[in-house]
Amino acid sequence: MRFRTLIALAILAPAALAEGLPDLGEASRTDLPPYMERRIGESIMRDIRLREPSYIDDVEVAAYLNTLGARLSAAMPEAGQSFEFFALRDATLNAFALPGGYIGVHSGLILAAQSESELAGVLSHEIAHVTQKHLARLMGKQNQAQMTQWLAIAVAILAARSNSDVSQAAMATGAAAGVQTMLNYSRDFEREADRIGIQTLDRAGFDVRGMASFFERMQKFGRLYENNAPGYLRTHPLTIERISDMENRILQAQYRQVADSTDFQLVRSKLRASQGDPRDAVTDFETQLRERKYLSEMAARYGLAVAQMRMKNYPAAGREVTELRRLKTASPMVDTLAAEVRRAQGDLADALKIYREARVRHARNKALLYGQIEAMLADGQTQEALKLATVELQLTPSDPALHGLQAKSYAALGKRLQQHRAQAELYVLRGQLVAAIQQLELAQKSGDGDYFEHSQVDARLRELRARHLEEMKQKMPF
Ligand SMILES: [Zn+2]
Repeated sequence: MRFRTLIALAILAPAALAEGLPDLGEASRTDLPPYMERRIGESIMRDIRLREPSYIDDVEVAAYLNTLGARLSAAMPEAGQSFEFFALRDATLNAFALPGGYIGVHSGLILAAQSESELAGVLSHEIAHVTQKHLARLMGKQNQAQMTQWLAIAVAILAARSNSDVSQAAMATGAAAGVQTMLNYSRDFEREADRIGIQTLDRAGFDVRGMASFFERMQKFGRLYENNAPGYLRTHPLTIERISDMENRILQAQYRQVADSTDFQLVRSKLRASQGDPRDAVTDFETQLRERKYLSEMAARYGLAVAQMRMKNYPAAGREVTELRRLKTASPMVDTLAAEVRRAQGDLADALKIYREARVRHARNKALLYGQIEAMLADGQTQEALKLATVELQLTPSDPALHGLQAKSYAALGKRLQQHRAQAELYVLRGQLVAAIQQLELAQKSGDGDYFEHSQVDARLRELRARHLEEMKQKMPF
């Protein structure tokens, strides 16, 4: 876990790395200012996306977590900030909030949740840590030296990019546990996050008992494996009082039977099917179906199809998709999978038909949109692909993946200036300013494009260079 060892390094040897960081002055003695928290968060997030191997770059998993997270934060009127949820492939039970509203969830925790309310309970608890400014208070409470350690996290990550010795040293320390200590919330913070989390769960229409039951199960799990307590309980210490506090609150709440959403079940199956040896996943899902031991037949068949796709057993995957349609599973995730199976079987026309029809019902679904553009490009419908990407970009201009698909379409059409220009916007949105500037320089030298397009490239380049200079001047590593 490169990312985590680097954080540990920042804690062990912050002084040398943090040289040249701005003096935070009085601000460091109170709360961390929100703009700085956001910048630290953005910087860590950019690094996770680029170099954390366990980062799950899956539009469907991300969309599910963000939809669930948005539903929860909307139920918290005092939230007043944006959140981004992401998943890491990690079997340990953990979830954590980074500065700036970024909330990470391990796949192990999603798989261990026995109901959507349980997962929602953990997310609500994390959202509450953010809205109550626990992280900012924790960081702000520390003195200047400790504060610098926090800032050094980003520096350490950046340093490792150009200096392999630093990452070597990080590996050698092997003391990632330092992060845990740093992130240990106080008991008061935990109680507050529980109280607000339960309120949020209730307001968002989930079963509030989900929170206590999940935490209790984690605790039992912890007792069974003395030296291997779930990471979540180490960063969010669970005490007997905390559980009884939660139970008292729950007694006051109304009893509510809440059905899991289809996407919760499908996302769990997808995560299970995508981890480890695909043969084990196939066996697992086949056993579930044979013995009828599943939460839902739909989710088991979907998981089996994903696992068969990994095995490149396309006929078997196709059979499961047919079964899913028979079960009338109305989820865009099933449509996307069906189209992918048809494409893998070589029937591009049928795949395109599935995308087209499904997008009438789910116009805003990203996986279907990206899949349709990719399939159009594979089918040689380059102009149509470009048109679709461009129209959609007018609706969601800050979608990096769409800029990437637009760049791909331009490349297929041989329009080099436009290709590099679109690629530059992808990098801008991912916070990679230097890479964006390089793309625009390539656009200038592309040898195509008209006068108007060249002046647009020149203007954008001036703007980004100025922004880059400003960031360098501030000597902020983020
Ligand atoms: Zn907590």
